[in-house]
Amino acid sequence: MASVRPNVRAMTGYVPGEQPRGDQIIKLNTNESPYPPSPSVFAAIQAHLTGDRLRKYPDPTGRAFREVAARVLGVDPDGIVIGNGSDDILTILTRTFVPDQGLMVSATPSYILYRNLAEIQNARFQLVPFADDWTLPQSWPVPKADLTFLANPNSPSGTRIDSHGIQQLLGQLDSPLVLDEAYVDFAPENGVRFSQSSDHSVIVTRTLSKSYALAGIRFGYAVTRPDIAYEMNKVRDSYNCDVLALAAATAALDDQAYLRDIVGKMIATRERMTQAVRELGFTVTPSQANFIWCRRPPEQPVKPLYEALKAKGILVRYMNYPGSGDGLRMSVGTDTEIDRLLEELRRLV
Ligand SMILES: *Cc1c(COP(=O)(O)O)cnc(C)c1O
Repeated sequence: MASVRPNVRAMTGYVPGEQPRGDQIIKLNTNESPYPPSPSVFAAIQAHLTGDRLRKYPDPTGRAFREVAARVLGVDPDGIVIGNGSDDILTILTRTFVPDQGLMVSATPSYILYRNLAEIQNARFQLVPFADDWTLPQSWPVPKADLTFLANPNSPSGTRIDSHGIQQLLGQLDSPLVLDEAYVDFAPENGVRFSQSSDHSVIVTRTLSKSYALAGIRFGYAVTRPDIAYEMNKVRDSYNCDVLALAAATAALDDQAYLRDIVGKMIATRERMTQAVRELGFTVTPSQANFIWCRRPPEQPVKPLYEALKAKGILVRYMNYPGSGDGLRMSVGTDTEIDRLLEELRRLV
């Protein structure tokens, strides 16, 4: 094993949320949709289950998908890059922009994967704390960064920097900005228009795993200018998305009415859940995503609650961020699932 790159040997590797098998578990730990994907997704996958489709390679650039996405978003299809999940897009971005020993920057607390991407790239990584009210970090932008990440809405907080804040950040930033919009369908506005400007380099990343209820399929994409997409496509594996994933993603994006329907239901549940968890004495940040971040004062630790819920078959995510403390991130489930969660929490607190 002597020839393993030292940066790889030194890293621990990303640890995703638990994926227990079995349907008795109420799974509120990784922000999957509690509802199934659009019925048209099943039809699209069926239609591609032929010997001829499976025998041949998929369309390497995903043109059909890019055309539907471009129409939905009002952008040029040549500015869209397809990915095997948005995590694949994030990897493509680090490989496109970050040189050896380069500098990657993220706000914290936020998505933990960004650090792993820096470690794989053999880049330096700097975390900059959000302000106490989850507005932009005071010490942003970091000079000489090669790539800056902002999850917007952010995880675990569910908070979002509004367009005014993004504009302000872009005015000072000299690195490309990745706006990770994994949860943006649960929020009132998005940052796509920033990705189209020639004044800045902004790459919006999207996933089908959360609002579109397709985490099992693995599909994500980037929205940016065609000149940036052109460079990213050189780095991308030629066939990073398979024929079934492309068919499913295209059908899912094409059914915006279904998306609005399930997102509307999840937002209603989120608001009810926020209110109820607050009444149990938690501090809950107002969320614009499909989860809520629930905290308690240090003398009332939340880790035992996580354990007790787990013992009852309810899985939430316990998260602890050095310097900013811990909390429970609870995904929005069906109303029945959330009623069960609230019933157990009432017994426990
Ligand atoms: C879930 C998530 C992703 C990853 O999405 P995939 O498409 O499933 O890889 C990216 N960014 C954030 C902030 C997420 O929460």
